[in-house]
Amino acid sequence: MASIIDPLAGRQILPFYLVGETGAAPVVRGRIASVGGAATSILDRHDYPFAVASLQAEALAIAACLSTFMKFDGVLTLQAKGDGFVKTLLADMTSDGAMRGYTAFDGESTVPVADDMADSMPASVPLLLGSGYAAFTVDQGTENGRYQGIVELAGDTLSDAAQAWFANSEQVESAIAAAAGCRDGIWTATALMLQRVAGDGGNAARSADTDADKAAQDDLWHTARTLMESVRRDELVDPALDPSTLVFRLFNTLEPHVAPALPVADKCRCSPEKVTAVLDQMPAEELVDLVADSGMIEVTCEFCKTTRAISPPATRH
Ligand SMILES: [Zn+2]
Repeated sequence: MASIIDPLAGRQILPFYLVGETGAAPVVRGRIASVGGAATSILDRHDYPFAVASLQAEALAIAACLSTFMKFDGVLTLQAKGDGFVKTLLADMTSDGAMRGYTAFDGESTVPVADDMADSMPASVPLLLGSGYAAFTVDQGTENGRYQGIVELAGDTLSDAAQAWFANSEQVESAIAAAAGCRDGIWTATALMLQRVAGDGGNAARSADTDADKAAQDDLWHTARTLMESVRRDELVDPALDPSTLVFRLFNTLEPHVAPALPVADKCRCSPEKVTAVLDQMPAEELVDLVADSGMIEVTCEFCKTTRAISPPATRH
């Protein structure tokens, strides 16, 4: 069926499952997050060099993918800190699809990755971030509902870091691929992730699995990974290629099933109340330096670039 794809509206997170010939139970859980619409409006507000924007777009897609694997409502944050050109990279998404991100980089030195290189391969972690770590945080907004996993930036890509974190925290096999591209000012940013569904290890419902079932499941997982590795970068960044089309193209032999797509929106969580609360915590002598000629303190949100004029705490009492 032919359809017209709106590159800004029609691209979201598509959950899918691979069942294979073994029958009813899914053996592989998958996600394809296609967040170009939200990434475009987020990146429009920042003046990043192309290679930095590409890294940010990839991080947004990966955060979107990971967030839909959360078992609880909350926020998933991907934060990377490096000693290279990029100092801080941040992308987060709530379970209802509000996404935001920002990157802090060294504005004094030359961008270490040329535009055409950034446009032809995944963002290079060693070249852009250098040495450092990536922290993945799941925060449910409650006292005990926050956990964080930290991995060293050992691989070439953000996908490598996300995969390392997932292997550590979830103890399940997974695979991630991500890519971002830009044509005429419109970004595509896609992350594709596979996760093996735990088939044993105390799961009573599966304890009757025979060795033959286990072998078939192993086989399906390895086939799925191999098929995923065959995905081309130009497929991931093609604005005309619908995510479900890509899922069926890649995994057609493994009986893919797709679930309803989950929405993604460019939506910050800042508010005048939150900014005021931060100012209220600051020492009075530091606040004095921040007061503008107007008598107000101007605060710009790093994420959405909204500037608010807040009256200093002392004048409010
Ligand atoms: Zn904001």
